[in-house]
Amino acid sequence: MSLIKKIRLGVILPCYNEEAVLQLSAEKLRAKFLDLIAANLITKDSFVCFVDDGSRDSTWEIIENLTKEPIFKGIKLATNFGHQNAILAGMFTCKTMADCIITIDADLQDDIDVFDKMINAYCEGSLIVYGVRDNRDSDTFFKKFTAQSFYKLMQWMKVKSVYNHADFRFIDSRVITELEKFNEVSLFLRGIFPLIGFKSSNVYYARSPRLAGETKYPISKMLNFAWNGITSFSTTPLRFIFYVGIVMFLLSLFFGVWVTISALNGNAIKGWSSTLLVNLIFSGINMICLGIIGEYIGKIYQEVKKRPRYIIDEII
Ligand code: UDP
Ligand code: MG
Repeated sequence: MSLIKKIRLGVILPCYNEEAVLQLSAEKLRAKFLDLIAANLITKDSFVCFVDDGSRDSTWEIIENLTKEPIFKGIKLATNFGHQNAILAGMFTCKTMADCIITIDADLQDDIDVFDKMINAYCEGSLIVYGVRDNRDSDTFFKKFTAQSFYKLMQWMKVKSVYNHADFRFIDSRVITELEKFNEVSLFLRGIFPLIGFKSSNVYYARSPRLAGETKYPISKMLNFAWNGITSFSTTPLRFIFYVGIVMFLLSLFFGVWVTISALNGNAIKGWSSTLLVNLIFSGINMICLGIIGEYIGKIYQEVKKRPRYIIDEII
């Protein structure tokens, strides 16, 4: 390893109603930090920062209690701004306090033992190191299927994203400076980082099941997140509508010829079913297309308002 100087590391964990797992995660991180300090990889003033995303349980009390130790810091958001915004609040707030930042979920499903590999990759010149899952054995069939389909869909829509990478990543603080130029309100971080560029690399790990507590991403939220990811980075659905329009036009040409021939042959009265059927199908397709366009207009509406992405209540 070609490490010239130890890095000051900040680890950021978004926490939403995580009272069941937080203490456990803090202990694991403390032990990991001691190892990294002993191995001369990070400085003694490296820290772990919990971002309380408007939890309604005792998450903030636990964080306050942890901050009695200098390695732990806490940021309390004024209300629930969502996972992505909580990570953003953490990164922006801690930017000047650390050389490098790692973001990881509070349940530590992602493997903290690859921190070493991430630091290693950084020393070899990568400014962004993506944590990538090498298997999904700990997932349910449903989660596996939906996640795989999502990544495939993103690839198909030519959205630059790292396959099987979520929000576990290591970044140099320079990258955060660049990230600050991205002003979008509907945030989908894993789509933004590949756009920033710089030298990047992947480290692979196996994701374990949640240690305690339950998932904060039920199906509805997951689908919403996926849809947001697609519409924030790709206009392919709009292009698709155009293609549908062309197909419908060609069909109607054929239909027109058929109708004319039938009329000329004098059997034009029958055909109630076929008329109704065509009407139903085409108005259905029209509605779907309008809905997709509406989604993009909704997105524009949200973006022009430029509401703040997070509001901080307290920092310790
Ligand atoms: N989270 C958050 N705000 C929210 C929802 C989730 O900060 O509104 C955090 C949560 O505390 C966790 C991370 O986002 O640290 C990922 O959530 P979870 O582990 O429940 O998702 P899963 O791993 O099941 O996809
Ligand atoms: Mg989790």
